[in-house]
Amino acid sequence: MITETAAATDTQSRVPITVTYGDGIGPEIMKAVLFILEKGGARIEVETIEVGEKVYLSGNTSGIPNEAWESIYRTRVLLKAPITTPQGAGYKSLNVTMRKTLGLFANVRPCVNYAPFVPSKHPHMDMVIIRENEEDLYAGIEHRQTDEVIQCLKLLSRPGTEKIIRYAFEYARTHGRRKVTCMTKDNIMKMTDGMFHQIFCEVGQAYPDIEQEHYIIDIGSARIADTPDRFDVIVTLNLYGDIISDIAAQVSGSVGLAGSANVGSHFAMFEAIHGSAPDIAGKNIANPSGLLIGAMQMLAHIGQGDVAEVIHNAWLRTIEDGFHTADIYNEAYSKICVGTDGFAQAVVERLGERPRYLHPVTYAKGSRRVQVHFTPTAPADKQLVGVDVFLHWSDRNAEALGERLKTYTQGQLSLQMITNRGIKVWPQGHPATFCTDHWRCRFQTPSYQPTNYSDVLQLLQTLHNHGFDIIKTENLYTFDGQPGFSLGQGQ
Ligand code: NAD
Repeated sequence: MITETAAATDTQSRVPITVTYGDGIGPEIMKAVLFILEKGGARIEVETIEVGEKVYLSGNTSGIPNEAWESIYRTRVLLKAPITTPQGAGYKSLNVTMRKTLGLFANVRPCVNYAPFVPSKHPHMDMVIIRENEEDLYAGIEHRQTDEVIQCLKLLSRPGTEKIIRYAFEYARTHGRRKVTCMTKDNIMKMTDGMFHQIFCEVGQAYPDIEQEHYIIDIGSARIADTPDRFDVIVTLNLYGDIISDIAAQVSGSVGLAGSANVGSHFAMFEAIHGSAPDIAGKNIANPSGLLIGAMQMLAHIGQGDVAEVIHNAWLRTIEDGFHTADIYNEAYSKICVGTDGFAQAVVERLGERPRYLHPVTYAKGSRRVQVHFTPTAPADKQLVGVDVFLHWSDRNAEALGERLKTYTQGQLSLQMITNRGIKVWPQGHPATFCTDHWRCRFQTPSYQPTNYSDVLQLLQTLHNHGFDIIKTENLYTFDGQPGFSLGQGQ
C-alpha cells in the first residue's frame, strides 16, 4: 500500500513544481508517481492545482481556472496526469491551450521498447520524436468560404521553425544522440515544408558531430513502422509529428509506458502519452509507468538527473523482474500481476538497483535543459506584384470565367491564370479537371514589376461592381526579387 509521506523539511533546496491529478486513472497514477519520486529522493515541492473535467463541467470551457495559471506561472513546471475532455462542442482542448499559452514549442516523445519483457516486433527501437508544437495546421485558422470549400491555414514561421530544429540538434548533443532525421513533405509543399527542410540544412551546419538526413514524411512513416531501429532523433512539423509519434509508440509495443515533455523557453509540462482511461478508473490496475517516464523527463529538466537515473533504473529493473500491471502482463516474462500501488512499491524496493538485461540509463548531472535562440529575420526588399483574388462562383465553367475576368485590368495588373483547388484551369485548362465553386484568380504585373495597393483595391472594386463574390484576397509579393508565392499546379 502507498502511504502518504511526510512533508519536506528542507523546502529551501526543493524545486517547486505544479501537479494536477487529472481525471479517470489520473489520481491513482499520480499518487503512485509522487510516492516513487518522494522515495527516490526527488527534491521537489508540490503545488496541486485542479484542471480538467470538473472545471469544464463547472462552466469553465477552457478547463483551467485562474488560480491554476498562477501556480504554473510561479513554478514554470507542470506534471500533469491525463484529463478527460467532455464530449461536445465548446470545450477547448486543455493540452492545446497550455501549449499555446505557455509557448511550449517542442513536444519531446521518447519511443523505446523493453523487449523481451514487453513484447515488441522491433526489439532495438530507441528513438525520440521532437515535434513542433505551436504552428502548422494546428494554428486552428479555418474558414468556410463557399458552399463547397472549407480552408485550414498552414502557417509556419522562420523563428518557430529555427527554434524547433535547433532544439532537436541541441537535444541530440546534450543527450548523447548520434543522428537527427528531418521529415517533411517538401516535394509538394515547397514553400512551407521547403523552408523547414532548408532551415534544417542551415542549422545543421553548426552540428557537424551529428549525422543528418531528410525523409519525405510518407516514406519516413513507413520506415518508422517497418525498421524503427534506423532512427535516433526525428524532428518534424506539428501534424506529421502528431501522427508519427503515435505510430512509433504503437510499434514500440509500449504505448502505456511512454511519457512526453512539452517544452518552451520559460515553461514545461510533462505527462504520459495515454489518456484518462475511464474504463479502468478507480480499480487500482492502471500502469503508472507513462507518467513516471514523463516525470523522469521533468527531473532531468529541473537538474535532478541524478535522481532520475536512480528511479529510471529501478523502474527498468522492476519491468525486468516481471512485476507487471495487467496491461503489459504476458505469460513468458511476467512473474506477478501487480496493481498500481503494488507496481509503485516494487519500483521503490528496487531503488539503487540497475537492470541486468535492458540497457541501464544514464542522465547527465545538472540540468539537461535545452535553451535555443533564433536568428532575427532581416527585412527583405518586399514588392507588391499582384493579387490572388478568390471568388465564389457556382458555374463550373473555367473558360467562361477566364474570358470575363481577362477584360478587367488595372494599371499593370491583368489576369494571368485561374486555379481551382490549386490546379490551373485557365488558360488552357484540361476539360477533365473537376471544378468546385472556389476559384483563385491571379492578377499580376508582367515580369514582377512593382505595383501599388491602390491598384489592387481599384481592381477589387471593379470586380465587386461587376457582381463577383470575392471571398478573400492574397497579395503577391517578391522578397529581394524572389517570388513569395507558389505557381499553380500545371502552370
Ligand atoms: P486512453 O489512452 O485513455 O485509453 C485507451 C485504452 O488504453 C483503454 O483501454 C485504457 O484502459 C488503456 N489504458 C490507457 N492508459 C492506461 C494505463 N496507464 N494503464 C493501463 N491501461 C491503460 O484513450 P481514450 O479512451 O481514447 O481516451 C479517454 C479520455 O482520455 C478521453 O476523454 C480523451 O480525451 C482523454 N485523453 C487525454 C489525454 C491527455 O490528457 N493528455 C491524452 C489522450 C486522451
